[in-house]
Amino acid sequence: QLKQWQHKDAAHHLHPFTNQADINKKGTRVISHAEGAYIYEADGHKLLDGMSGLWCCNLGYTQPKINQAIAEQLQELPYYNTFFQCTHPRATELAEAISHRAPAHMNRVFYTNSGSEANDSAIRMIHRYWDALGQPQRKAIIARENAYHGSTIGGASLGGMEFMHKQFSPLQDIHHIAQPYWYGANADISPDEFGLQAARELEKKIQELGENNVAAFFAEPIQGAGGVIIPPDTYWPEIQRICDQYGVLLVVDEVIFGFGRTGHWFASECYQLTPDFIVFAKAVTNGFQPLGGLLISDRVGKALLSHTDDLAHGFTYSGHPVACAAALATLDILSEGYIDKVRNELSQAMQDYWLALGEHPLVGQARCKGFVGALELVKDKSSRERFDKNGKAGTLCRDASLQSGLVMRATGDTMIIAPPFILDRSDVKDLTEKAWQALDITLKQLS
Ligand code: PLP
Repeated sequence: QLKQWQHKDAAHHLHPFTNQADINKKGTRVISHAEGAYIYEADGHKLLDGMSGLWCCNLGYTQPKINQAIAEQLQELPYYNTFFQCTHPRATELAEAISHRAPAHMNRVFYTNSGSEANDSAIRMIHRYWDALGQPQRKAIIARENAYHGSTIGGASLGGMEFMHKQFSPLQDIHHIAQPYWYGANADISPDEFGLQAARELEKKIQELGENNVAAFFAEPIQGAGGVIIPPDTYWPEIQRICDQYGVLLVVDEVIFGFGRTGHWFASECYQLTPDFIVFAKAVTNGFQPLGGLLISDRVGKALLSHTDDLAHGFTYSGHPVACAAALATLDILSEGYIDKVRNELSQAMQDYWLALGEHPLVGQARCKGFVGALELVKDKSSRERFDKNGKAGTLCRDASLQSGLVMRATGDTMIIAPPFILDRSDVKDLTEKAWQALDITLKQLS
């Protein structure tokens, strides 16, 4: 049957973020089922999922309470919309439940189906906010190089990945500044000095564009798909200062880090930020249903509500009842101690085991925060020289990792993990042993 699936897939399925030549050469990997923190390929190969799917199944794959909530909702009200003054119980309960877990100044939720749509929606809301304030000229948006904010036109324009921009025509008036990537910059200054310098690029860009033209700054608290770039401690306080000083809206894309990844409900809390928007998706439903959205600050909410015409924006499935039911169950389970578990047990286990991978001859830097980690693969540890063909070492290591029974992701030559919170300390040890094995295999292949 595996061959049949691969054959049908090759004939009819256009895959996202996949090189078709690789499919033709190697065939697709068919994941047929999952249990707990493990996924199984159709040929029976068992893998510890170090990436929680695409950073979304933070509670693993076996959560009967979420399944039950979905099944019950399908019986009670399988669909209704939230347009034209309508709502339904789950959409209202979830908006309250998310607001209660958000920073105190954020009390309103707008629903989308995905993180990409949520970022697009943020752009629309930002325009409407500045209209309400009588400053419609504020249209320029600043985001960061190498960021991923989704695949819709808006999301991909906000993103700062060059290989994506080459494939379409990005929106005008979106500008990018460097990411706070101290290790990658190989700078001759301390991380703290580097963090300040990187943050001040925002100030320079605002001044260059004219402070009265800049609408918002978009960033992830920690850049995820860009390589788990954990900013130096000085970075975020300076960014917050600059946004406050110039009245620029701060949009924190927490599609990856929201709902516990840093050991806080939102990473904005971890970095003591006061965003105007928090963008969420993925783990809000544990990945069991598609749902995304925006958490909106009170000042932005007030301005948006001050308009007298309709908000001409929304989706057929904004606040889909089944997705909202899945999210409510997910939040209930996360509330059973998982956020504390990430902040204490799991982040400590990462410090103890994951950081030790920095001793491997192939690893220039191992870093982690909460329950996310990265490894920089280098040819020379002291000079941080990379391997010749950027990305090759990462691809080899990703494949070697699968051989060792672990899913790790490669971004260029940076290896990434974001495992499910259901693991415990001994599982983290096991995971890092598998990663070490993968590094050994990769080293042999490269030498
Ligand atoms: N924003 C960030 C930070 C993401 O990592 C992603 C997806 O990985 C998105 C937005 C897009 O979310 P979606 O794939 O749900 O559209």
